[in-house]
Amino acid sequence: MATTSAQTVIRHDAVPPDDPPRRIFVIDDDDVMLLSCRRILEKDGYAVETFDNGVDGLRRLADVRPQLLLVDLKMPELDGLQVIDRVRAIDTEIVIAVITGYATISTAVDAMKAGAYDFLPKPFTPDELRLIVNRGYERWRLAMESSRLREEKAEAERRFVTFVSHQLKSPVVAAKQYLDVLLFEKRDDMPARDRDWLLRAQVRLDEMLTLIHDWLELARVSSGAVCEPGETTDLREVVGHAVAILEPQSRAAGVSVDTRLADDLPRAVGDGVSLTTVVSNLVSNGIKYNRPGGTVSISTRHDGGVIELEVADTGIGIPDEAMPRLFEEFYRVRNDDTQDIPGTGLGLAICRRIVTTLGGSIEVSSRFGEGTTFVVRLPRAAAGSHGEPRP
Ligand code: ADP
Repeated sequence: MATTSAQTVIRHDAVPPDDPPRRIFVIDDDDVMLLSCRRILEKDGYAVETFDNGVDGLRRLADVRPQLLLVDLKMPELDGLQVIDRVRAIDTEIVIAVITGYATISTAVDAMKAGAYDFLPKPFTPDELRLIVNRGYERWRLAMESSRLREEKAEAERRFVTFVSHQLKSPVVAAKQYLDVLLFEKRDDMPARDRDWLLRAQVRLDEMLTLIHDWLELARVSSGAVCEPGETTDLREVVGHAVAILEPQSRAAGVSVDTRLADDLPRAVGDGVSLTTVVSNLVSNGIKYNRPGGTVSISTRHDGGVIELEVADTGIGIPDEAMPRLFEEFYRVRNDDTQDIPGTGLGLAICRRIVTTLGGSIEVSSRFGEGTTFVVRLPRAAAGSHGEPRP
């Protein structure tokens, strides 16, 4: 069964470009080499940490995250290529240069393939070392700068779409209301074709309003406006409310919705509005991407400090190749099964934002053609917080 999950990720943030402390690690089994690198680079203002083996260097690197790493290729325990491999799994941004006494084209190529940026053959002069290290640092700085600019550009685009959405909302609502009145007043003496066209226009306006609503909701939760400190919610009430709201949709689709909610479920961290959005989106998807006669089963349980909500359906399922992209903004699976199902591709992005902001996680597993299960995990409210008994 294909599985993907979206969880809170603790990110290593870039050092502010104005005054970055320039950190470099040197890993080499030759103590003289470590000492001379330290002397030369400290004089140039680098904070230098040295390690005579890869294991110690890697352990420290996970905590400190230097911008640069100089690593010897030939070492007894972990060799340079193995170190580079493991470093890349911890940090994709660090700039790595390899040092070696056995400089051959093929070792250089291997190191570059493994993710090293530069190559320093032994013996080298202080100036050669400085050249490599300064060039590496400059590369790190430029990479940080361009990722900051990319983020700023994406943020400016988001703000623009949010502004346009706000501006569009009122005229679209007004146009829909005019159509409602026209369809109501002229219902008996309107030619069938005109009525059909007006109904189609109404459907398109509804789609546009859903898109505007979803975008503004995503902007709201992305700005962190999810939950006041100390707010907690009874998920059973949220589920009951969401199921009642979606009853017309499930009836129209011929899909039954079952609930199995733990009687002793503790309250979860989070506000009712946001958690209703999460549950409604997941249950609505379970109904939409289903078949007549299918089911959506909602259950809750708790384990230690975690409250778990599961929404499982017997619907059309999700192809394996779509799984990694499901939580992206505007991503929709496009195939024969989904082409007539309306949607914006924002629902799961909104769910993920809310859940991760609350310190939880959301995970999906699916069998194409058979059904899909979403599991949301939320932190349990602390004892003594609103609505939660003290021990
Ligand atoms: P949409 O508005 O398109 O439903 P979502 O962000 O909620 O947007 O979901 C993204 C895509 O993930 C959907 O277009 C659909 O292809 C797929 N998907 C979501 N939930 C399910 C489900 N329960 N079963 C099958 N496919 C699903």
